[in-house]
Amino acid sequence: MEQHWQKTVVRMLGPNARQQICNRLSQGDSAQRLFIFGCIVLILAASTQPQIMLHQDRISSFSSSPASLVNSLAVAEQLASNGLFYDASGGLICFHCSVRLQSGSSDPLQQHLHQRPRCYLQKLLRLAAGSDDKILLADVAADHDRRVP
Ligand SMILES: [Zn+2]
Repeated sequence: MEQHWQKTVVRMLGPNARQQICNRLSQGDSAQRLFIFGCIVLILAASTQPQIMLHQDRISSFSSSPASLVNSLAVAEQLASNGLFYDASGGLICFHCSVRLQSGSSDPLQQHLHQRPRCYLQKLLRLAAGSDDKILLADVAADHDRRVP
């Protein structure tokens, strides 16, 4: 049965992200599970552009983008699933951290990581997608081991 948080993730990041997050929750260790839920809460509570937090709204933002940037609904859905929307001034922007990506990047998620390595949305998406990046996994473990004094 789909739980309430899963419906929230689908509305925010799309069905693919929900599936990947569920897969990682069932396969990952306790540190990864805690990190995933921590990221979801952080993204819900502290995104810099909450007005465009919904996946569907970000897909719609691409209707005004040039065909050179987005030439199909599939591309728009993929960018929106990565938290990106189209800004009228011509850029791709992350709704969580507001990073502005250079247009024309062939791998927006990689570009996002490069420009804003501390964004918790890209950390969540990379972890959910099964990344085995050592820096990311060390981050996850370090967050788990942090103690309240
Ligand atoms: Zn970001």
